[in-house]
Amino acid sequence: MSAIGILGGGQLGRMLALAGHPLGHSFVVLTPERDAPAAAVAETIVADYDDPRALAALAARVEVVTYEFENVPAAAVATLSPRVPVRPGGEALVVASDRLNEKARFRELGIPTAPFASVESAAELEAAVRDIGLPGVLKTRRLGYDGKGQRVLQSRRDVEGAFTGLGAVPLLYEGFVAFRRELSIVAVRGLDGEVAFYPLVENRHEGGILRFTRAPAADVPAALQARAEGYARALLESLDYVGVLALELFDDGTELLANEIAPRVHNSGHWTIEGAETSQFENHLRAILGAPLGSCAARGQSAMINLIGDAPDPLAIQAVPGAHLHLYGKAPRPGRKLGHVTVTAPDAATLDARVEQL
Ligand code: AMP
Repeated sequence: MSAIGILGGGQLGRMLALAGHPLGHSFVVLTPERDAPAAAVAETIVADYDDPRALAALAARVEVVTYEFENVPAAAVATLSPRVPVRPGGEALVVASDRLNEKARFRELGIPTAPFASVESAAELEAAVRDIGLPGVLKTRRLGYDGKGQRVLQSRRDVEGAFTGLGAVPLLYEGFVAFRRELSIVAVRGLDGEVAFYPLVENRHEGGILRFTRAPAADVPAALQARAEGYARALLESLDYVGVLALELFDDGTELLANEIAPRVHNSGHWTIEGAETSQFENHLRAILGAPLGSCAARGQSAMINLIGDAPDPLAIQAVPGAHLHLYGKAPRPGRKLGHVTVTAPDAATLDARVEQL
């Protein structure tokens, strides 16, 4: 039974706390937001992440601190670290909060990626487009999420003004990948270095936001799963990582190209609550507390559908066999993730029928 601190009070923090309560743990969340989704299931300190008094109060109340988003200020981790362990550590944040660092780490570890170049001026964008070609994707290095802070450049016309259009901040230009499908792997590393991997899942995005996850992904030969695990293992070990990490991959039919990592529990792992032997949330808590990891094996077939923008009719969802509703306690707003539904089934045909019904 431990007291655990979480930086961030969104739905990921909420689901971490929900996973920890049956194990007897308690939670203190630091968030600048009043009525954050996690506040319903955790004690809350409402303050900015770099508020020294709030950080001291958090450190005094918990045995370990984790985070549920990657844009935690480095200074917050630096303030906390001498007082209380922060897991995963600061290096994971430095790498994962900047797309250039991330891509550089993939390259160092021999993990394939789309061609990429750093862009810090309109002239550098011209040079990058000359080297890499069109189409491509121009992304802000920091603070991009759910398709925000990026645009696809199709033609010369799109290149004009794109640097200033994204705010004249440090950018990354990468070649457009004509992928066959998007996959991700959620992996976990314990305090003693033990690693475990969930099966590869297939993700569908619209407008840059995850809409749908199929778990396990169909048509995954053992060699493909092993390749993804090898990449995830290399990342976990190079970062001396403790906790759950997600790696997003493009499958172009020949190669798996790494797109980005999330140093935290991930939306493409929500299916594990009902669909795996141990959820990603429980495994993250086990890892940061030094407990043995739980099995990542799938129980049958699952699909996860994000509820975005509008509140659905809960009764209609619960009328579908195998459907499990998760609401995050957020007010509806266009483009906002309000919850998700995981549908489970013993086999793929039954799953398809249930998803169709939903
Ligand atoms: P990201 O924020 O990097 O995860 O990008 C959001 C989504 O945009 C991805 O899940 C893809 O669907 C798409 N995307 C990002 N980068 C590329 C790329 N280099 N080529 C093709 N599609 C991309």
